[in-house]
Amino acid sequence: MTTAKTAPSYLERRDRLSHEVQSSSSHRVRLSKPTSNLFRDRVAERTKPLTVKDFNHLLELDSEQETLEAEGMMTYAALVDATLEYGFIPMVVPQLKSITIGGAIAGVGIESTCFRHGLPHESVLEMDVLLADGSVVSCSPDGEHSDLFYGLPNSYGTLGYALKLKTPALRVKPYVELNHIRFRDAEEFFARIGELRNADIDFLDGTVFQRNEYYLTTGKFTSSAPHLSDYTYLNIYYRSIREKTTDYLTVKDYIWRWDTDWFWCSKNLYVQNQFMRRLVGKKRLNSTTYTKVMRWNSKWGVTDRLDRIAGMHSESVIQDIDIPIDNAPVFLDFLLREIDLLPIWICPIGTDERSSRFPLFALNPDSMYVNFGFWGPVRSRGRRDPGYLNRKIERMTSELNGIKSLYSDSYFDRETFWDRYNGEEYSKLKNRYDPNGKFLDLYEKSVLRK
Ligand SMILES: Cc1cc2nc3c(=O)[nH]c(=O)nc-3n(C[C@H](O)[C@H](O)[C@H](O)COP(=O)(O)OP(=O)(O)OC[C@H]3O[C@@H](n4cnc5c(N)ncnc54)[C@H](O)[C@@H]3O)c2cc1C
Repeated sequence: MTTAKTAPSYLERRDRLSHEVQSSSSHRVRLSKPTSNLFRDRVAERTKPLTVKDFNHLLELDSEQETLEAEGMMTYAALVDATLEYGFIPMVVPQLKSITIGGAIAGVGIESTCFRHGLPHESVLEMDVLLADGSVVSCSPDGEHSDLFYGLPNSYGTLGYALKLKTPALRVKPYVELNHIRFRDAEEFFARIGELRNADIDFLDGTVFQRNEYYLTTGKFTSSAPHLSDYTYLNIYYRSIREKTTDYLTVKDYIWRWDTDWFWCSKNLYVQNQFMRRLVGKKRLNSTTYTKVMRWNSKWGVTDRLDRIAGMHSESVIQDIDIPIDNAPVFLDFLLREIDLLPIWICPIGTDERSSRFPLFALNPDSMYVNFGFWGPVRSRGRRDPGYLNRKIERMTSELNGIKSLYSDSYFDRETFWDRYNGEEYSKLKNRYDPNGKFLDLYEKSVLRK
């Protein structure tokens, strides 16, 4: 049976957008949509905004084939609401509600089903992509545009925009049982991740609170729950990991467990005490609010000024780094010794033969990877060169054969950057799909912050 929710106007809206791009032949273009999770300050440049916010529909959910077709700018919050009605979710749902399905593919999203299903782009079946000349091409692993199909992940809108994507859908049960398992030894912690890859669980992630205090959280769908927790308002999910060994959530609450407090980053906005939570209100406790506040702060340099008055210097370290699992203990030791930004989110990534085929984000199919997410300001008394810690992290990532996400600050020189992100293949893609440079190139966008 096909449970179809068709938006017949997809073709009309697609044609309107094509026309918009064609008629702006002399301008650079950029996406205009209400939310973004891009976390680097931009140098202002004259670009034509493309209105894409109406590409936000679930077009089809095929419950027999277990696939879904959604428009590229649909947020996961909307997509999950729409698919849960039929008892499904997308196979990989990034943890922040405002991430869009196209953004997660172009910007390499991640979450706790990745230990089994790989990164979100690895399960995409086909896409419609809007090109720089205004045409729209269908890409699949084997068709005429298979190079674009594999090239789009980690291209950050520099090769084209995904307008429609077909991906597998995951059948769910109403609840998730969580188990938080504590480890004191890093080697043991990472070894256990490897062992859990084929275990009878549906979700796996982890949290490092401090040296010798590491937790793995397994999740398993269940049809019933003896009791339910709620982390959408006064209770804080990440704290519960230390306090409970077993927990139960509805599927929806599990999916958004990290969103209420933006993992733990809401502490930087002082909303982790009960008084402030009540003052701010349930509706505003979410990653979208915090992103807006952080952007505002970054624009006006408020905390930078306060730090300077207090005689401190601060560097923003907002990174997600994927490291082959054998090197994960060394990377964790490095983070604990040299960066000291806690907690750290741990998300295992399973690989298979598909994983190496994406030239801008190629993973070794013979190794599992571990994503380390660490986000926040690092304060120091002495003045340091700009990007002092971020550069250290980039060097360590390379030494350990890892790869870093590009949504935040990067400091690579041009040569190193293209060595890490396959400049040769990128040039071929750029020449074929955007020969006149209507979109920025990936280095300009992710390192030069244009
Ligand atoms: C603090 C922080 C925490 C994060 N945590 C997580 C996490 O927990 N899980 C996770 O999965 N990811 C996480 N991310 C990364 C996030 O998935 C990526 O940044 C993703 O690209 C954001 O998608 P978006 O829809 O918000 O896109 P935007 O932020 O709007 O855009 C990101 C880039 O992708 C391009 N882009 C957007 N849509 C499309 C499209 N349809 N086609 C082609 N290019 C497009 C844009 O041009 C832009 O360059 C985090 C990012 C930040 C800043």
